[in-house]
Amino acid sequence: MTQHARIIDGKRIASAIEAEVKETVAAIDAQGGMKPCLAVVVVGEDPASAVYVRNKGRACDRVGFASHSVVLPAETTEAALLDEIAQLNADPAVHGILVQLPLPKTIDERRILEAIDPLKDVDGFHPYNAGRLVQGAPTMVPATAAGVLELLKREGIAIAGLEAAVVGRSTIVGRPVAALLTNADATVTLCHSRTKDLPAVLRRADVVVAAVGRPAFITAEMIKPGAVVIDVGINRLPDGRLVGDVDFEGVQEVAGYLTPVPGGVGPMTIAVLLRNTLEAYRAQGN
Ligand code: NDP
Repeated sequence: MTQHARIIDGKRIASAIEAEVKETVAAIDAQGGMKPCLAVVVVGEDPASAVYVRNKGRACDRVGFASHSVVLPAETTEAALLDEIAQLNADPAVHGILVQLPLPKTIDERRILEAIDPLKDVDGFHPYNAGRLVQGAPTMVPATAAGVLELLKREGIAIAGLEAAVVGRSTIVGRPVAALLTNADATVTLCHSRTKDLPAVLRRADVVVAAVGRPAFITAEMIKPGAVVIDVGINRLPDGRLVGDVDFEGVQEVAGYLTPVPGGVGPMTIAVLLRNTLEAYRAQGN
């Protein structure tokens, strides 16, 4: 008989985190405190960005946050966007600032992210926060990466001493996941497109985190029996289906734990973003 992996329910875990945030906001409200507020800045009319922004606004409503969206035309200059960020930085009623990426090519993304007050940087992309993460200091951690670790923690998976392989080295997912796993005492290999023998690295790993952006890239033969496999990928197939980077059907017969797509890491991103906003609110003396 084939052994099937335990499927990690990211939706359930994300709802638990949202419930915790909501409870804290209700307590703040009962004491007459100011509402935590997340500002989302979007430049241009990318339909995918519009959906993300709407979802973030709805998530704020669910937990009782105020939300504020700043929608700017595609031809907005870098100077005008910097000015907008300066205003949000200075506004005591705004506790978290998130700039929806990607920005139009005419704007230097790095300059914009570096202009956000690190205390309001709920995405954790500011070099100050990224540096603190690498140093193992308390900081604002990018939501998807923090969501991966939270899934492991809430499933009761003890990471210390395990061999972990992260596939993908973006600043948004792969690098912060590798830093968090290192901070949690895993032995981490960070893989990318130049990794020589990826299957050999993966077969050694007790924990595999896939953040590549290629459907069915990670197959059963690459997985050590019983390993924990976390699939961060979100890929849209030509037939409209949404799939991860892991060949779910094959890998679930080998892995010990596996996250589905959708319903695994995805829902964690918004839940952790809300939690980050609450932490930013507190860090600003509220
Ligand atoms: P990027 O495109 O920024 O990074 C992809 C990484 O994969 C790169 O480091 C690249 O290596 C590596 N890679 C590409 N091809 C190979 C290969 N053949 N072998 C090994 N490594 C390879 O993607 P992101 O990190 O932004 O996103 C990754 C995936 O996660 C996407 O599917 C995205 O949609 C999803 N995602 C999901 C989120 C969620 O909420 N669940 C949030 C953010 C992203 P190199 O650096 O050498 O080019």
